[in-house]
Amino acid sequence: MTAVTGPSPGNRVELHCHLDASVRPGTVADLAGVQGVPLDAPVEHLVTAPSDCGGLPRFLTYLDLPLRVLQTPDALRRAARELVEDWHADGVTYGEARFAPQLHGRFGMTQDEAVRAVAEGLAEGRDTTGVGTGLLLCCLRHQTPEESLSVAETALRNRDQVAGLDLAGDERCPGVPHRAAFDLAHAAGLPCTVHAGEAAGPRSIWEALDVLGARRIGHGVRCTTDQALLARLRSEDVTLEMCPTSNVRTAAVPHLRAHPADRLLAAGLRVTISTDARTTCDTTVEREFAAMRAEFGWTADEETRCQANATRAAFDSPPPPR
Ligand SMILES: [Zn+2]
Repeated sequence: MTAVTGPSPGNRVELHCHLDASVRPGTVADLAGVQGVPLDAPVEHLVTAPSDCGGLPRFLTYLDLPLRVLQTPDALRRAARELVEDWHADGVTYGEARFAPQLHGRFGMTQDEAVRAVAEGLAEGRDTTGVGTGLLLCCLRHQTPEESLSVAETALRNRDQVAGLDLAGDERCPGVPHRAAFDLAHAAGLPCTVHAGEAAGPRSIWEALDVLGARRIGHGVRCTTDQALLARLRSEDVTLEMCPTSNVRTAAVPHLRAHPADRLLAAGLRVTISTDARTTCDTTVEREFAAMRAEFGWTADEETRCQANATRAAFDSPPPPR
């Protein structure tokens, strides 16, 4: 289908964006140089997954180098500030960045120090661009319940900086063991989102809703085969944080034409569009909507509805539309 001219950029809300997957390649190279980390290929080849990367396990290997160089407060602060600058250039007026602070302690940085560094970087970017920001912390499915509990406790200790809790990681691992972390967040009024229905099937989405109390679902592309689940998602206005390019690269969908965002939006579900991983997927929010315009004939109407859904589901306070 021929691309249709879309809305002019601006007033975009990005709900699903991993900081470590969105570091500028040039910044990764800079940090590697300063830290004495050797690069055995052009940095773009090391941090951007090819379109045929074949699935989530290989996709995640492209995060190894960014994670390796994001082990100091200065590096995290810079990455966060630059992400806000990149949002600004992308027409995003409110963005939520998420990261797993427990992965940044290789040189002794504590979770609190990591959270403070990212929060400071986001604030610096906010001050220079006017882009609103929110910060989410990620528990990881393949880690222990105790590790997830420590992330939730970090979030609550830094409640003035943290807008929400997430569960990410290997979807072959169930979410149930992480319930205590999410119960703690709920008791403190901290809203939660859960990656589910990306690599795993509809059961992982039921679990995210019923066991972990998620108000939003990260990806959720595999909900379409379960009519009862679709009815539940619709009746409870659960937000789907969909990321088309990422969903193709991780093989959650075989190709863009098969992506369910178009038919789910038409069916009245709360679809939103994000990048997931600006660098790993070499994308922007503009490119995600451009892809939907080209593939599904989306116009300003669909983008406006997705942005309204995202604004409504934000965990912090997006600025009012201009
Ligand atoms: Zn994600």
